[in-house]
Amino acid sequence: MTRTDPLVERMRPFGTTIFTEMSALAVRTGAVNLGQGFPDTDGPPEMLAAAAEALAGGANQYPPLPGIPALRHAITAHEQRFWGLTRDPDTEVVVTAGATEAIAAAILALCEPGDEVVCFEPYYDSYAASITLAGAVRRPVTLRPGPAGRYEFDEAELREAFGRRTRLVLLNTPHNPTGKVFTAAELELIAGLCREHDVVAVTDEVYEHLVFDGRHVPLAGLPGMRERTLRISSAGKTFSCTGWKIGWATGPASLVSALLRVKQFLTFVNGAPLQPAVAVALGLPDSYFTGFAAGLRERRDGLVAGLAEAGLAVLPAEGTYFVTADIRPLGGVDGIEFCRELPARCGVVAVPTQVFYDNRDAGRHLIRFAFCKRAEVIDEAVSRLKRLAA
Ligand code: PMP
Ligand code: GLN
Repeated sequence: MTRTDPLVERMRPFGTTIFTEMSALAVRTGAVNLGQGFPDTDGPPEMLAAAAEALAGGANQYPPLPGIPALRHAITAHEQRFWGLTRDPDTEVVVTAGATEAIAAAILALCEPGDEVVCFEPYYDSYAASITLAGAVRRPVTLRPGPAGRYEFDEAELREAFGRRTRLVLLNTPHNPTGKVFTAAELELIAGLCREHDVVAVTDEVYEHLVFDGRHVPLAGLPGMRERTLRISSAGKTFSCTGWKIGWATGPASLVSALLRVKQFLTFVNGAPLQPAVAVALGLPDSYFTGFAAGLRERRDGLVAGLAEAGLAVLPAEGTYFVTADIRPLGGVDGIEFCRELPARCGVVAVPTQVFYDNRDAGRHLIRFAFCKRAEVIDEAVSRLKRLAA
C-alpha cells in the first residue's frame, strides 16, 4: 500500500461528524449537552412494552425486506390520518434503518454520477455525504434570516439551481438545523419547479409532528407531486427513540421499488422486534402527538428566553428540536471557536451550524442549541448561560 490514507478520495473532506465531536466535548467537560439532538427521556410506554413483548416473543429473525406488514399498514394509516395521503401498504412503503438509510438509498438509487441534487443549506450532514457517495453533485440554495428574522430563500437563486442535470430536490421540513417550517407558498414554488423540470422530490419529514408555529405541509400532497415524491420519516424524533433507527419512505411504487433495490444491499433489514412496537406507536391517539409537541414547545420557550437573556440574538424556531442563535451580539465571530470555548465559559455545549453549509460564510456566526431535554436540564443550561452576559 503506497497511499498513506486508505480512505477513498471523495470521502476525505468528511471528517468526524460535528455531533460526535461536540458530544465527546460535553462528556469530557461535564457540560450540559445541547449539541446532538437526542431526547433524555424515553418514548411512550405502550411502544416500549410492545418492543419488550416482541423481543421475548421471538420476533428476532429477519423481517421481510420492505418491513413487517403491521408496520407498513400503520405507516400508511398514519399518513392518511395526519396528512390525508393515500398509499398502498404493499407496494408504496418501505421500512428502513432510520431516515438516514432511506435518504442514502434514495440518492444512490436515483442519481447517476454527475446528476445534480438541489438542497437547502444549511443541510443535515448526511445529505452531502450521501450525494458524494453516489457521485452526484449538490446544488445548495442558501437559507438566510430575512427582515422578520425567519429563514428564507431567494426565489431567483432556487430557479437558477434547477438545470439540465437536476435529478432530485432534497427537502427537509421542518428543517434541521434552522427550525424553519416551509410555508405552503414556498412549497408550491418548489413543487412548480419539480413539475417544470421533471424532477423527483425526496422529502425528509422526521420532524413532521414537531411544529410550534405554522403548519406542516407535506410536499407530496401538492398538485402533481404524489407521483414524483419519496416522503421519508422516522420513529426516532416523534417517539423519542433515536437509537432504534426505524425509518421509512413512502411514494409511488416505481420510486419505492428503486429504493428497495439499493436498500437490500445496504442493511437488507433491521430492528425486527422494534418494528411491531413502532406500529403500535404510530397508532396512538392524536393526544399523544399534540401533547408531545406542546411539551417541547414549553421547553423551546424556556431555552429561547434564556438565550436572549444571555445576550445572543435568537432566530425563530418554528419547529424541530432546535433553535439557532447569532453570536455577534456577544462579540463572537466564528461559531466553531465559540462552541469549542463554550463549555469552559459557561458549561454548555452547542453546535456551530457553519459545518452544514457549502457557503460557510453564510453561517459562520450561527450556532444551534437542542431543546429536546428535560425541563430541569433546560433550566440548568439557562442558568449557566447567564455567565455569558456577565
Ligand atoms: N434527517 C434529519 C433532518 C435529522 O435531523 C435526522 C436525525 N436527527 C435524520 C434525518 C436521521 O434520522 P434517523 O435517526 O431516523 O436516521
Ligand atoms: N440528527 C441529530 C442532530 O441533528 C444527530 C444525529 C447524529 O448524531 N448523526 O443533532
